[in-house]
Amino acid sequence: MLHTSYLELSKSALQNNIQFLKQQIAPQVQLSSVIKGNAYGHGIEQFAPLAQECGINHFSVFSTDEAHRLLQALPQRATIMILGFIDEAAMEWVVANEIEFFVFDVERLAEAIEAAKKTGKKAKVHLELETGMNRSGFDRTNLVHAQAMLRNNKEHLLLQGVCTHLAGAESLQNHERVLRQQEIFAKALQRLRGQGHAPNQRHVACSAAMISYPESHLDMVRVGIMQYGLWPSPETYRQFIGQHEDKVDPLQRVISWKSRVMGLKHVPQGEYIGYGTSFQAPRDMNLALIPVGYSCGYSRSLSNQGQVLVRGHRASVVGIVNMNMMMVDVTNIPEAGRGDEVILLGKQGDEVITVASFGELSTQLNYELLTRLPLTIPRYVVE
Ligand SMILES: *Cc1c(COP(=O)(O)O)cnc(C)c1O
Repeated sequence: MLHTSYLELSKSALQNNIQFLKQQIAPQVQLSSVIKGNAYGHGIEQFAPLAQECGINHFSVFSTDEAHRLLQALPQRATIMILGFIDEAAMEWVVANEIEFFVFDVERLAEAIEAAKKTGKKAKVHLELETGMNRSGFDRTNLVHAQAMLRNNKEHLLLQGVCTHLAGAESLQNHERVLRQQEIFAKALQRLRGQGHAPNQRHVACSAAMISYPESHLDMVRVGIMQYGLWPSPETYRQFIGQHEDKVDPLQRVISWKSRVMGLKHVPQGEYIGYGTSFQAPRDMNLALIPVGYSCGYSRSLSNQGQVLVRGHRASVVGIVNMNMMMVDVTNIPEAGRGDEVILLGKQGDEVITVASFGELSTQLNYELLTRLPLTIPRYVVE
């Protein structure tokens, strides 16, 4: 093992999750695999070809650099859609490669027309509408300008989609707002159609909306977190489980995170461990040194909180998580030895460290923990 830790991606877990997602939508609804944030930390280069093997042929990325990486990584042709950032200088490359993209202001639409003229290819645009999230999206006034540009540039623009994003479908607290967004979207779509702008695809749903708002599926769902085997929120999970006889989680975690014991240390009772005085040994202790710290994505907020698995047993982080190292308590695991496998995330024996168990009680934790995993950690595909 050259690196201090590594990630494993389970192909069978991904197969299971994709099969489950396809069961949630009608056969004519497109499933777009959202792989922004370096495939939620799983690694675009490793995750995307695996997803393609599992039958995915439509991917959503955030930016041109991710689209570029994806294009290099995919063995077979697939539809690529950019949800977010496109540098003006990259627009020609985007159009030339037939990459689809969101448009949320007239400036980008103008850039798309320019690029289409230069490349001789139609720009495949998805008009993103403002429906109440107040992030990106055309409001009514700007949409009028966009429609004029669409009308006057029919030979350069293909209206591939009309879409919006929901502001928090994973929480019932946002229920009214999310319903209103869908109403606003439907009305705007009707007006667009009435004026001769009929898109090939209408899409609004993320993972949470796919589960909680089946009417939001339309022509395509854009699913991120659930394909990785995690729920958008405990609420969405409870809602799903509440409606199903079989009370087991249908998803399987794709990622595992592993390291090794770098060294062992005996510490007498009363000694402080690591930097500062946050942990004082309440008894004689045996510690294992793990070569993983916050620079590897193991949050410093897990100091004195986190748990790992060694020899199939739980071991608690003691003291502060350092930049490259942390200490765990193996006093009750006498067989622990130098070089032993350490599970930071995943299963060993009968024990499992879940993403949720990382303990910070934020509903967005799933997303944040994963996307913090650095690019440099190697990622391997396992069955
Ligand atoms: C991230 C994102 C999604 C996917 O969200 P999940 O909750 O991970 O399913 C869908 N659409 C847009 C526009 C996004 O930015």
